[in-house]
Amino acid sequence: MTVTQARGIDPTIITRDQHVISRAQISDKALSVLYRLKNAGYGAYLVGGGVRDLSLGREPKDFDVATDATPDEVKALFRNCRLIGRRFRLAHVHWGPEIIEVATFRALTPDADAGDDDHVVEDGRVLRDNVYGTIEEDALRRDFTINALYYNIADFSVVDYAGGMADLQAGRLRLIGDPAVRYREDPVRMLRAVRFAAKLGFTIDSATAAPIPRMADLLDDIPPARLFDEVLKLFMAGQGVETFEALRHHGLFRYLFPASDTALDDDDHGQLITFVARALESTDERVNNDRPVTPAFLFAALLWPAILGQLPSARLEPGIDSELFEQSVTEALERQLGQVAIPKRFALPMREIWALQPRFHSASDKKARRLFSHPRYRAAYDFLLLRREAGLVDPDLANAWQRYTESSEDAPPPTPARRRRRGGRRRGPAPDSGDG
Ligand code: ATP
Ligand code: MG
Repeated sequence: MTVTQARGIDPTIITRDQHVISRAQISDKALSVLYRLKNAGYGAYLVGGGVRDLSLGREPKDFDVATDATPDEVKALFRNCRLIGRRFRLAHVHWGPEIIEVATFRALTPDADAGDDDHVVEDGRVLRDNVYGTIEEDALRRDFTINALYYNIADFSVVDYAGGMADLQAGRLRLIGDPAVRYREDPVRMLRAVRFAAKLGFTIDSATAAPIPRMADLLDDIPPARLFDEVLKLFMAGQGVETFEALRHHGLFRYLFPASDTALDDDDHGQLITFVARALESTDERVNNDRPVTPAFLFAALLWPAILGQLPSARLEPGIDSELFEQSVTEALERQLGQVAIPKRFALPMREIWALQPRFHSASDKKARRLFSHPRYRAAYDFLLLRREAGLVDPDLANAWQRYTESSEDAPPPTPARRRRRGGRRRGPAPDSGDG
Protein backbone atom coordinates (compact mmCIF):
# COMPACT_ATOMS: atom_id res chain seq x y z
CA MET A 1 0.00 0.00 0.00
CA THR A 2 1.45 3.36 -0.93
CA VAL A 3 0.38 6.55 0.70
CA THR A 4 -1.47 7.91 -2.30
CA GLN A 5 -3.50 4.73 -2.77
CA ALA A 6 -4.57 4.63 0.83
CA ARG A 7 -7.67 6.78 0.72
CA GLY A 8 -11.11 6.28 2.07
CA ILE A 9 -10.12 3.85 4.81
CA ASP A 10 -11.98 3.69 8.09
CA PRO A 11 -9.99 4.71 11.13
CA THR A 12 -9.94 2.71 14.31
CA ILE A 13 -11.60 4.72 17.06
CA ILE A 14 -10.13 4.01 20.47
CA THR A 15 -12.69 5.15 23.00
CA ARG A 16 -11.89 6.89 26.28
CA ASP A 17 -12.07 3.68 28.31
CA GLN A 18 -9.58 1.94 25.99
CA HIS A 19 -6.65 4.36 26.29
CA VAL A 20 -4.78 6.11 29.08
CA ILE A 21 -4.76 9.75 27.96
CA SER A 22 -6.60 12.03 30.36
CA ARG A 23 -7.24 15.75 30.17
CA ALA A 24 -5.37 16.22 33.44
CA GLN A 25 -2.10 15.47 31.61
CA ILE A 26 -2.67 18.02 28.86
CA SER A 27 -1.48 21.56 29.43
CA ASP A 28 -4.20 24.11 30.27
CA LYS A 29 -3.16 26.20 27.30
CA ALA A 30 -3.49 23.32 24.85
CA LEU A 31 -6.87 22.42 26.37
CA SER A 32 -8.15 26.00 25.99
CA VAL A 33 -7.09 26.01 22.35
CA LEU A 34 -8.81 22.67 21.72
CA TYR A 35 -12.03 23.75 23.44
CA ARG A 36 -12.22 27.11 21.74
CA LEU A 37 -11.87 25.45 18.33
CA LYS A 38 -14.47 22.83 19.22
CA ASN A 39 -16.94 25.39 20.60
CA ALA A 40 -16.62 27.35 17.37
CA GLY A 41 -17.76 24.24 15.50
CA TYR A 42 -14.40 22.99 14.22
CA GLY A 43 -12.74 19.61 14.63
CA ALA A 44 -9.96 19.87 17.22
CA TYR A 45 -7.35 17.21 17.96
CA LEU A 46 -4.16 16.82 19.90
CA VAL A 47 -1.68 15.12 17.59
CA GLY A 48 1.88 13.91 17.10
CA GLY A 49 4.43 13.59 19.89
CA GLY A 50 1.93 14.75 22.53
CA VAL A 51 -0.47 11.85 21.99
CA ARG A 52 2.37 9.37 21.54
CA ASP A 53 4.18 10.35 24.72
CA LEU A 54 1.02 10.56 26.86
CA SER A 55 -0.02 7.09 25.66
CA LEU A 56 3.33 5.80 26.87
CA GLY A 57 3.02 7.55 30.22
CA ARG A 58 5.78 10.01 29.32
CA GLU A 59 5.75 13.75 29.61
CA PRO A 60 5.45 15.37 26.16
CA LYS A 61 7.87 18.09 25.09
CA ASP A 62 5.04 20.16 23.69
CA PHE A 63 1.44 19.94 22.51
CA ASP A 64 0.50 20.28 18.85
CA VAL A 65 -3.06 20.73 17.67
CA ALA A 66 -4.60 19.78 14.32
CA THR A 67 -7.90 21.12 13.03
CA ASP A 68 -10.13 21.46 9.98
CA ALA A 69 -10.29 25.24 10.54
CA THR A 70 -8.18 27.18 8.01
CA PRO A 71 -5.31 29.31 9.34
CA ASP A 72 -7.38 32.46 8.86
CA GLU A 73 -10.27 30.92 10.79
CA VAL A 74 -7.90 29.97 13.59
CA LYS A 75 -6.47 33.47 13.66
CA ALA A 76 -9.96 34.94 13.95
CA LEU A 77 -10.55 32.89 17.12
CA PHE A 78 -7.41 33.88 19.04
CA ARG A 79 -6.14 37.37 19.70
CA ASN A 80 -2.68 36.10 20.64
CA CYS A 81 -2.18 34.24 17.36
CA ARG A 82 0.41 34.61 14.62
CA LEU A 83 0.49 32.86 11.26
CA ILE A 84 3.87 31.56 10.16
CA GLY A 85 5.11 29.75 7.04
CA ARG A 86 4.34 30.61 3.46
CA ARG A 87 3.09 27.74 1.34
CA PHE A 88 1.75 25.87 4.30
CA ARG A 89 0.72 28.29 7.01
CA LEU A 90 0.65 27.34 10.67
CA ALA A 91 -1.00 29.22 13.50
CA HIS A 92 1.04 29.87 16.63
CA VAL A 93 -1.12 30.67 19.63
CA HIS A 94 1.03 32.41 22.26
CA TRP A 95 0.40 32.22 26.00
CA GLY A 96 3.32 33.87 27.65
CA PRO A 97 6.32 31.67 26.96
CA GLU A 98 4.20 28.72 25.80
CA ILE A 99 3.30 28.36 22.12
CA ILE A 100 0.62 25.97 20.94
CA GLU A 101 1.06 25.15 17.28
CA VAL A 102 -2.23 24.78 15.44
CA ALA A 103 -2.00 23.16 12.00
CA THR A 104 -4.79 22.84 9.50
CA PHE A 105 -5.15 19.27 8.16
CA ARG A 106 -2.66 18.95 5.40
CA ALA A 107 -3.12 17.29 2.02
CA LEU A 108 -0.92 14.50 0.68
CA THR A 109 1.57 16.46 -1.38
CA PRO A 110 4.81 14.56 -1.80
CA ASP A 111 6.99 17.61 -1.17
CA ALA A 112 5.05 18.64 1.91
CA ASP A 113 7.96 18.25 4.31
CA ALA A 114 10.87 18.60 1.94
CA GLY A 115 10.63 22.37 2.10
CA ASP A 116 8.15 25.15 2.52
CA ASP A 117 8.96 27.05 -0.65
CA ASP A 118 6.05 28.73 -2.29
CA HIS A 119 5.01 27.45 -5.64
CA VAL A 120 4.88 30.72 -7.50
CA VAL A 121 3.26 30.80 -10.94
CA GLU A 122 4.44 33.09 -13.67
CA ASP A 123 2.38 36.15 -12.80
CA GLY A 124 3.66 36.00 -9.26
CA ARG A 125 0.61 34.50 -7.57
CA VAL A 126 1.22 31.88 -4.94
CA LEU A 127 -0.39 28.52 -5.52
CA ARG A 128 -2.08 27.29 -2.42
CA ASP A 129 -4.36 24.77 -4.08
CA ASN A 130 -4.60 21.36 -2.51
CA VAL A 131 -2.44 22.35 0.42
CA TYR A 132 -5.13 21.64 3.00
CA GLY A 133 -6.83 18.28 3.23
CA THR A 134 -8.86 15.88 5.37
CA ILE A 135 -7.88 14.35 8.70
CA GLU A 136 -7.21 11.09 6.87
CA GLU A 137 -4.81 12.74 4.45
CA ASP A 138 -3.20 14.57 7.33
CA ALA A 139 -2.66 11.28 9.14
CA LEU A 140 -1.18 9.44 6.17
CA ARG A 141 1.36 12.13 5.32
CA ARG A 142 2.90 11.88 8.79
CA ASP A 143 6.07 9.85 9.22
CA PHE A 144 5.57 7.03 11.73
CA THR A 145 2.34 5.29 12.69
CA ILE A 146 2.87 6.20 16.35
CA ASN A 147 3.11 9.88 15.35
CA ALA A 148 -0.24 9.77 13.56
CA LEU A 149 -2.67 9.39 16.46
CA TYR A 150 -5.33 12.06 17.04
CA TYR A 151 -6.87 12.74 20.43
CA ASN A 152 -10.34 14.14 19.75
CA ILE A 153 -11.46 16.74 22.28
CA ALA A 154 -15.11 16.24 21.25
CA ASP A 155 -15.39 12.75 22.76
CA PHE A 156 -11.90 12.05 24.22
CA SER A 157 -11.34 9.20 21.79
CA VAL A 158 -8.12 8.53 19.86
CA VAL A 159 -8.46 8.33 16.08
CA ASP A 160 -6.00 5.91 14.46
CA TYR A 161 -5.69 5.66 10.66
CA ALA A 162 -2.36 3.83 10.50
CA GLY A 163 -2.30 1.18 13.20
CA GLY A 164 -0.29 3.42 15.51
CA MET A 165 -1.85 2.22 18.75
CA ALA A 166 -0.91 -1.41 18.07
CA ASP A 167 2.64 -0.32 17.21
CA LEU A 168 2.84 1.73 20.41
CA GLN A 169 1.85 -1.32 22.40
CA ALA A 170 4.33 -3.52 20.55
CA GLY A 171 7.18 -1.02 20.95
CA ARG A 172 7.56 -0.85 17.18
CA LEU A 173 8.56 2.07 14.99
CA ARG A 174 6.98 1.77 11.57
CA LEU A 175 6.80 4.23 8.69
CA ILE A 176 3.41 4.88 7.12
CA GLY A 177 3.37 3.72 3.48
CA ASP A 178 6.28 2.43 1.39
CA PRO A 179 9.50 3.15 3.33
CA ALA A 180 11.64 3.76 0.25
CA VAL A 181 9.11 6.26 -1.08
CA ARG A 182 8.84 8.01 2.27
CA TYR A 183 12.65 8.28 2.65
CA ARG A 184 12.99 9.67 -0.85
CA GLU A 185 10.33 12.30 -0.06
CA ASP A 186 12.26 13.31 3.02
CA PRO A 187 15.56 11.59 3.87
CA VAL A 188 15.57 13.15 7.36
CA ARG A 189 12.99 10.51 8.26
CA MET A 190 15.90 8.03 8.44
CA LEU A 191 17.40 10.10 11.24
CA ARG A 192 14.02 10.47 12.89
CA ALA A 193 13.62 6.68 12.88
CA VAL A 194 16.84 6.28 14.84
CA ARG A 195 16.00 9.16 17.15
CA PHE A 196 12.54 7.91 18.12
CA ALA A 197 13.73 4.31 18.48
CA ALA A 198 16.46 5.42 20.90
CA LYS A 199 14.22 7.85 22.77
CA LEU A 200 11.41 5.37 23.30
CA GLY A 201 13.45 2.18 23.46
CA PHE A 202 11.50 0.91 20.42
CA THR A 203 12.57 -1.51 17.70
CA ILE A 204 12.61 -0.22 14.15
CA ASP A 205 10.32 -2.46 12.10
CA SER A 206 12.39 -4.50 9.63
CA ALA A 207 10.74 -3.06 6.50
CA THR A 208 11.33 0.45 7.86
CA ALA A 209 14.97 -0.29 8.71
CA ALA A 210 15.92 -2.26 5.59
CA PRO A 211 16.29 0.56 3.03
CA ILE A 212 18.26 2.88 5.34
CA PRO A 213 21.86 1.81 4.58
CA ARG A 214 21.36 2.02 0.83
CA MET A 215 19.40 5.27 0.96
CA ALA A 216 21.52 7.04 3.58
CA ASP A 217 23.43 8.99 0.92
CA LEU A 218 20.25 10.97 0.23
CA LEU A 219 21.19 12.92 3.34
CA ASP A 220 23.87 14.60 1.23
CA ASP A 221 21.09 16.67 -0.35
CA ILE A 222 19.71 17.99 2.93
CA PRO A 223 20.69 21.58 3.73
CA PRO A 224 23.49 21.59 6.35
CA ALA A 225 21.47 23.95 8.58
CA ARG A 226 18.60 21.47 8.80
CA LEU A 227 21.05 18.69 9.64
CA PHE A 228 22.52 20.82 12.41
CA ASP A 229 19.06 21.05 14.01
CA GLU A 230 18.63 17.30 13.65
CA VAL A 231 22.03 16.57 15.19
CA LEU A 232 21.07 18.59 18.26
CA LYS A 233 17.81 16.66 18.57
CA LEU A 234 19.70 13.39 18.13
CA PHE A 235 22.40 14.04 20.72
CA MET A 236 20.87 16.39 23.26
CA ALA A 237 17.80 14.41 24.24
CA GLY A 238 19.41 12.19 26.87
CA GLN A 239 19.95 9.03 24.78
CA GLY A 240 23.07 10.08 22.91
CA VAL A 241 24.98 6.84 23.41
CA GLU A 242 22.22 4.60 22.03
CA THR A 243 21.62 7.09 19.24
CA PHE A 244 25.31 7.14 18.26
CA GLU A 245 25.48 3.35 18.17
CA ALA A 246 22.30 3.14 16.09
CA LEU A 247 23.47 5.81 13.65
CA ARG A 248 26.72 3.88 13.11
CA HIS A 249 24.85 0.60 12.83
CA HIS A 250 22.49 1.91 10.12
CA GLY A 251 25.26 3.62 8.16
CA LEU A 252 23.93 7.11 8.90
CA PHE A 253 26.70 8.55 11.06
CA ARG A 254 29.04 9.02 8.12
CA TYR A 255 26.61 11.41 6.47
CA LEU A 256 26.63 13.59 9.55
CA PHE A 257 30.30 13.32 10.59
CA PRO A 258 32.19 11.92 7.60
CA ALA A 259 35.78 12.42 8.76
CA SER A 260 35.02 11.20 12.28
CA ASP A 261 33.32 8.13 10.87
CA THR A 262 36.43 7.25 8.83
CA ALA A 263 38.67 7.73 11.86
CA LEU A 264 36.37 5.54 13.97
CA ASP A 265 36.52 2.79 11.34
CA ASP A 266 40.33 2.90 11.42
CA ASP A 267 40.47 2.97 15.21
CA ASP A 268 42.13 -0.37 15.95
CA HIS A 269 42.41 0.08 19.71
CA GLY A 270 38.87 1.38 20.19
CA GLN A 271 40.09 4.49 21.99
CA LEU A 272 38.28 6.92 19.73
CA ILE A 273 35.01 5.03 20.10
CA THR A 274 35.50 5.04 23.86
CA PHE A 275 36.17 8.75 23.76
CA VAL A 276 32.98 9.57 21.84
CA ALA A 277 30.90 7.16 23.90
CA ARG A 278 32.17 8.66 27.17
CA ALA A 279 31.51 12.19 25.93
CA LEU A 280 27.95 11.25 24.99
CA GLU A 281 27.44 9.40 28.26
CA SER A 282 28.40 12.47 30.24
CA THR A 283 26.17 14.65 28.06
CA ASP A 284 23.28 12.22 28.65
CA GLU A 285 23.93 12.29 32.37
CA ARG A 286 23.75 16.08 32.38
CA VAL A 287 20.61 16.19 30.24
CA ASN A 288 18.88 13.63 32.42
CA ASN A 289 19.73 15.67 35.52
CA ASP A 290 18.52 18.93 33.98
CA ARG A 291 22.01 20.36 33.87
CA PRO A 292 22.97 22.58 30.95
CA VAL A 293 24.85 21.18 27.97
CA THR A 294 26.41 23.12 25.17
CA PRO A 295 26.47 22.17 21.50
CA ALA A 296 30.04 23.51 21.36
CA PHE A 297 31.30 20.78 23.70
CA LEU A 298 29.22 18.12 21.98
CA PHE A 299 30.54 18.99 18.53
CA ALA A 300 34.09 19.31 19.88
CA ALA A 301 33.80 15.71 21.09
CA LEU A 302 32.09 14.30 17.99
CA LEU A 303 34.74 15.83 15.73
CA TRP A 304 37.79 15.02 17.85
CA PRO A 305 38.34 11.68 16.08
CA ALA A 306 38.43 13.56 12.76
CA ILE A 307 41.25 15.74 14.02
CA LEU A 308 43.22 12.95 15.67
CA GLY A 309 42.84 10.83 12.54
CA GLN A 310 45.25 13.19 10.79
CA LEU A 311 47.86 13.42 13.52
CA PRO A 312 50.83 11.09 14.02
CA SER A 313 49.88 10.50 17.66
CA ALA A 314 46.33 10.52 19.03
CA ARG A 315 47.75 11.38 22.46
CA LEU A 316 49.12 14.76 21.37
CA GLU A 317 52.56 14.02 22.76
CA PRO A 318 54.40 17.05 24.13
CA GLY A 319 55.99 19.13 21.47
CA ILE A 320 53.16 18.56 19.02
CA ASP A 321 53.68 20.70 15.98
CA SER A 322 51.14 23.48 16.43
CA GLU A 323 50.99 24.17 12.72
CA LEU A 324 50.17 20.55 12.02
CA PHE A 325 47.50 20.63 14.73
CA GLU A 326 45.95 23.81 13.31
CA GLN A 327 46.00 22.24 9.86
CA SER A 328 44.17 19.11 10.94
CA VAL A 329 41.54 21.24 12.67
CA THR A 330 41.03 23.22 9.48
CA GLU A 331 40.83 20.11 7.33
CA ALA A 332 38.44 18.34 9.66
CA LEU A 333 36.19 21.39 9.69
CA GLU A 334 36.25 21.83 5.95
CA ARG A 335 34.99 18.34 5.41
CA GLN A 336 32.46 18.75 8.19
CA LEU A 337 30.85 22.07 7.39
CA GLY A 338 29.66 20.96 3.94
CA GLN A 339 27.64 18.33 5.76
CA VAL A 340 26.38 19.83 8.98
CA ALA A 341 26.53 23.59 9.46
CA ILE A 342 27.79 24.63 12.89
CA PRO A 343 26.75 28.20 13.69
CA LYS A 344 29.62 30.52 14.63
CA ARG A 345 28.41 30.98 18.18
CA PHE A 346 29.14 27.27 18.74
CA ALA A 347 32.02 26.85 16.30
CA LEU A 348 34.18 29.46 18.02
CA PRO A 349 34.04 27.99 21.54
CA MET A 350 34.43 24.53 19.99
CA ARG A 351 37.68 25.59 18.34
CA GLU A 352 38.87 27.06 21.64
CA ILE A 353 38.27 23.77 23.44
CA TRP A 354 40.47 22.10 20.84
CA ALA A 355 43.11 24.81 20.75
CA LEU A 356 43.60 24.52 24.52
CA GLN A 357 44.31 20.75 24.36
CA PRO A 358 47.94 20.92 23.15
CA ARG A 359 48.50 23.61 25.75
CA PHE A 360 47.87 21.09 28.53
CA HIS A 361 51.03 19.40 27.31
CA SER A 362 53.16 22.47 27.65
CA ALA A 363 55.92 22.14 30.19
CA SER A 364 56.21 25.73 31.29
CA ASP A 365 54.89 26.87 34.63
CA LYS A 366 53.96 30.29 33.37
CA LYS A 367 52.06 28.91 30.40
CA ALA A 368 50.18 26.54 32.68
CA ARG A 369 48.94 29.42 34.80
CA ARG A 370 47.89 31.36 31.75
CA LEU A 371 45.95 28.36 30.52
CA PHE A 372 44.19 28.03 33.87
CA SER A 373 42.87 31.58 33.70
CA HIS A 374 41.54 31.16 30.16
CA PRO A 375 37.74 31.75 30.01
CA ARG A 376 37.28 28.38 28.25
CA TYR A 377 39.46 26.53 30.77
CA ARG A 378 36.68 24.56 32.44
CA ALA A 379 35.30 23.09 29.22
CA ALA A 380 38.80 22.33 27.95
CA TYR A 381 39.64 20.62 31.27
CA ASP A 382 36.48 18.49 31.14
CA PHE A 383 37.55 17.55 27.63
CA LEU A 384 41.00 16.57 28.92
CA LEU A 385 39.40 14.25 31.50
CA LEU A 386 37.45 12.54 28.72
CA ARG A 387 40.70 12.07 26.83
CA ARG A 388 42.13 10.44 29.94
CA GLU A 389 39.19 8.06 30.26
CA ALA A 390 39.70 6.93 26.68
CA GLY A 391 43.44 6.46 27.12
CA LEU A 392 44.07 9.36 24.78
CA VAL A 393 46.42 11.26 27.07
CA ASP A 394 49.24 10.46 29.45
CA PRO A 395 47.31 9.77 32.70
CA ASP A 396 50.01 11.39 34.86
CA LEU A 397 49.58 14.62 32.97
CA ALA A 398 45.78 14.58 33.26
CA ASN A 399 46.00 13.63 36.96
CA ALA A 400 48.30 16.55 37.60
CA TRP A 401 45.84 18.93 36.00
CA GLN A 402 43.03 17.38 38.01
CA ARG A 403 44.87 17.94 41.30
CA TYR A 404 45.70 21.45 40.26
CA THR A 405 42.12 22.26 39.21
CA GLU A 406 40.47 20.69 42.24
CA SER A 407 42.79 22.41 44.68
CA SER A 408 42.06 25.71 42.97
CA GLU A 409 38.29 25.32 42.96
CA ASP A 410 37.73 26.44 46.55
CA ALA A 411 39.85 29.49 45.98
CA PRO A 412 38.34 32.54 44.29
CA PRO A 413 38.58 32.36 40.52
CA PRO A 414 41.80 33.82 39.24
CA THR A 415 41.32 37.44 38.29
CA PRO A 416 44.01 39.57 36.68
CA ALA A 417 44.72 41.22 40.06
CA ARG A 418 44.89 37.94 41.97
CA ARG A 419 46.69 35.95 39.41
CA ARG A 420 50.08 37.23 40.33
CA ARG A 421 49.65 36.32 43.99
CA ARG A 422 48.30 32.88 43.25
CA GLY A 423 51.02 32.29 40.73
CA GLY A 424 53.55 33.02 43.42
CA ARG A 425 52.09 30.43 45.75
CA ARG A 426 51.00 27.73 43.43
CA ARG A 427 53.00 26.11 40.76
CA GLY A 428 51.60 24.95 37.44
CA PRO A 429 50.95 21.24 37.04
CA ALA A 430 53.08 20.37 34.05
CA PRO A 431 54.80 17.09 35.06
CA ASP A 432 58.35 18.23 34.66
CA SER A 433 57.65 21.36 36.70
CA GLY A 434 57.00 19.22 39.77
CA ASP A 435 53.25 19.90 40.13
CA GLY A 436 53.06 22.11 43.28
P1 ATP B 1 9.32 15.34 19.67
O1 ATP B 1 8.97 14.77 20.97
O2 ATP B 1 10.72 15.12 19.27
O3 ATP B 1 8.87 16.77 19.46
P2 ATP B 1 7.32 14.86 17.65
O4 ATP B 1 6.71 13.59 17.17
O5 ATP B 1 6.41 15.87 18.25
O6 ATP B 1 8.49 14.45 18.62
P3 ATP B 1 8.04 16.88 15.75
O7 ATP B 1 9.27 17.00 14.96
O8 ATP B 1 7.71 17.91 16.77
O9 ATP B 1 8.09 15.45 16.42
O10 ATP B 1 6.85 16.77 14.71
C1 ATP B 1 5.48 16.74 15.10
C2 ATP B 1 4.71 15.76 14.22
O11 ATP B 1 4.76 16.18 12.85
C3 ATP B 1 5.27 14.34 14.23
O12 ATP B 1 4.75 13.60 15.29
C4 ATP B 1 4.83 13.82 12.87
O13 ATP B 1 3.48 13.41 12.94
C5 ATP B 1 4.90 15.05 11.98
N1 ATP B 1 6.20 15.16 11.30
C6 ATP B 1 7.28 15.85 11.71
N2 ATP B 1 8.31 15.74 10.86
C7 ATP B 1 7.88 14.96 9.84
C8 ATP B 1 8.46 14.49 8.65
N3 ATP B 1 9.73 14.78 8.32
N4 ATP B 1 7.70 13.71 7.82
C9 ATP B 1 6.41 13.43 8.16
N5 ATP B 1 5.82 13.83 9.28
C10 ATP B 1 6.51 14.59 10.11
MG1 MG C 1 6.97 17.87 18.89
